[in-house]
Amino acid sequence: MSGFLFEQVVFGPIKSRRLGISLGLNLLPEDEKHCTFNCLYCECGWTVPINKRKLSFPPRDTIKSELENKLKAISGKGSFIDAITFAGNGEPTIHPDFCTVMKDTIGLRNSYFPDAKVVVLSNGTMTNNSHIRNALMMADINMLKLDAGTEETFQKLNNPIIKITLQEIVDNYKKFNGNFIVQTLFTRINYKGEIIDNTQPAELQAWLNILKKLKPALVTIYPIARDAPISEVEKISPGVLNKIGKMVEEAGLKVEIYN
Ligand code: SF4
Repeated sequence: MSGFLFEQVVFGPIKSRRLGISLGLNLLPEDEKHCTFNCLYCECGWTVPINKRKLSFPPRDTIKSELENKLKAISGKGSFIDAITFAGNGEPTIHPDFCTVMKDTIGLRNSYFPDAKVVVLSNGTMTNNSHIRNALMMADINMLKLDAGTEETFQKLNNPIIKITLQEIVDNYKKFNGNFIVQTLFTRINYKGEIIDNTQPAELQAWLNILKKLKPALVTIYPIARDAPISEVEKISPGVLNKIGKMVEEAGLKVEIYN
């Protein structure tokens, strides 16, 4: 199954289940998915291996001018947006100018829609870099991925294409002192005859233990919403997600469930 790719730097606005009317920013190439993960459920399809990448990130000036043109057009029509969201065809923080693009975006948001939130959806793999952490902290909503509680499930489900462990990611998340939002996608996958299931009790307990240490401002949980690169990706039911949400609340953390 091929993935869904955004063909523009600025896309939408679209109605997001988590963020309202959201204008998307795609800092990745328009025809390839680039990421440090290769999640089995990724709606963008499989990650292009590093040695086969075209390395054609949109330049900072292009991103800035395209965003400004779009914001001007939306404002000119008397419409509004709730959010400007760094998302798109992969992991936004791998763009070489991510930090300056963040500053540009906040400046444009302030000029055109000062009430809109600047949001980043990141897999957190670049949070070992203090510049990236600082740029993420500039966003109003810094949403970092945590799909697994154990190393085994992390490696199988998120399938990183760089050498990284769950523990390294968790250690980097600690540096935010709870000023971030966790995003967790729950699923059950049959991949090459093996079941990968982050809703299993032991897995959930390990995930909760990490959350209790990190104390994020909010935990958001959700199932898959679009096609994945493989067909055996199960959409977790609202009943199961609600039960997981209750466990998060009982751990003393705030949770939002997007079914
Ligand atoms: S981190 Fe996001 S973009 Fe990267 S592979 Fe996973 S789902 Fe896809």
